[in-house]
Amino acid sequence: MIKRHKRTNLVHGGTRRSQWGELSEAIFLTQGFAYDSAEAAEQRFIEAGPDEYIYARYGNPTVAMFEERIALLEGAEAGFATASGMAAVNGALMSMLKAGDHVVAARALFGSCLYILENILPQFGVEVSFVDGADLDQWRAAVRPDTSAVFFESMSNPTLELVDIAAVSQIAHAHDAVVIVDNVFSTPIYSDAIAQGADVVVYSATKHIDGQGRALGGVILGTQTQIRKVVEPYMKHTGGAMSPFTAWLLLKGLETMDLRVRAQTASAGQIADALVGTPGIANVCYPGRADHPQYELAMRQLGAGGTVVSFALENGKKAAFDFMNKLDIILISNNLGDAKSIATHPATTTHQRLSAEQRNILGICDGLIRLSVGLEDPADLIEDLKTALLTAA
Ligand SMILES: *Cc1c(COP(=O)(O)O)cnc(C)c1O
Repeated sequence: MIKRHKRTNLVHGGTRRSQWGELSEAIFLTQGFAYDSAEAAEQRFIEAGPDEYIYARYGNPTVAMFEERIALLEGAEAGFATASGMAAVNGALMSMLKAGDHVVAARALFGSCLYILENILPQFGVEVSFVDGADLDQWRAAVRPDTSAVFFESMSNPTLELVDIAAVSQIAHAHDAVVIVDNVFSTPIYSDAIAQGADVVVYSATKHIDGQGRALGGVILGTQTQIRKVVEPYMKHTGGAMSPFTAWLLLKGLETMDLRVRAQTASAGQIADALVGTPGIANVCYPGRADHPQYELAMRQLGAGGTVVSFALENGKKAAFDFMNKLDIILISNNLGDAKSIATHPATTTHQRLSAEQRNILGICDGLIRLSVGLEDPADLIEDLKTALLTAA
C-alpha cells in the first residue's frame, strides 16, 4: 500500500463502507445494533471487538470514521468524539483526575475551560494552580512531585500567546504528570502536539474542523490505553457522545480542512500586515509576523500564524463598537475558524464574566478586537476593515 500523507488521510482516512459500496460516508442514524443470536449479544457485552457496536452512546460507525480520521491527522493512536468541545475538555479532565490530585493550568483559558478548572474540579477535591503559560519559570515552580496533570491552550484566546508544548511537557513529564493540550487556536492542520510531547490533545470540532458554522462537536485524542481504558468508560457512561449526523458533517469538514485553514491563514497574514500602521490601531497581534514576541516559537511549534488576528483600537470600547458596527462583510459573532470572517469584542462578550483586573492580567483591553479570518477574498476583507476604521475614527 502507498504511504498516505495527511491530506490523503483527511479525504480517505477511517472510511468504512457498507455492502452497498457508497462513495460518500454513510450516516448510520441508529441508536442500537441487532445481533445475529443471543450468544452473539452475550459475547459482544463481554468484549466488543473492533467495529462491533452496542449502543450509540458507546460508539457508532459514522462516529468511528470521524474518530479515526482525526486521530490519523493528529498522529494519535485513538480518539473519542464528543458532543461539543467542552464535553471533550470535561471528559479528558474528569476521567483522568481524582480527589487529592494536583493540576497546573495556564491562566489564559477559554471561559468554560476556566470554569471547569476553577469551579468544578475543586468541588471534587482536585487542587488547581494557575500560571502564566508563557513563563516557563512559573511552570517549573508550580509543577510538584504530586502534580498529576497540566492543562493549557497552546495558543490563547484572544491574545494569541503561545505555550511551549515541548518545554512544558518536559517539565511535566519529569514529575510523571499527564500533558493535556486544548489545541483549538493552533488548528489540527498546524498541530504537531503529540510529537512535541503532549499526551492528550483536545479539540472543539465546532471551530476549524466543521469550519462552516453548522455543528457543535469535540474530540479527545491520545494513546490507545488512555482513550479506551480511561476516557471511553467515563464518556460512554456519562452521555457526552457525538451524534452520527454531526460526525458526518465533521467528516465532510475534514475533507476540506487543509485547504480552508491554509487559505484562512494566508489571508490572516495579509490582513495583519495591512492593519499594522493603520491610524486608530494601537497594536496588531499575529503569531505569523516577525514582530510577535513569540514568533520563533510559533514557527517552531506550528510553522504558521493561524487563522486569528487580534488588534487593539486606540480609543477603547467606543472605538471598538463604532468600528464593529461599520463592518459590511465581516460579521459580529463569537465563533471562530469559520468560512465567514467574524469580529468579536472579547471584553464585553466572551470574557465579560472576568473582572476588569483579570482581563488586565490577560491583556484583554477595552479596545481589543479578535478577528477570525474566513474564506472571503482577502482584498475585500482588508477594504472592509480599513473603511470601518476610517469611518469609525
Ligand atoms: C470553542 C472552544 C472550546 C469549547 O468548544 P465548544 O465546541 O464550544 O464546546 C474550548 N476551548 C477553546 C480554546 C475553544 O475555542
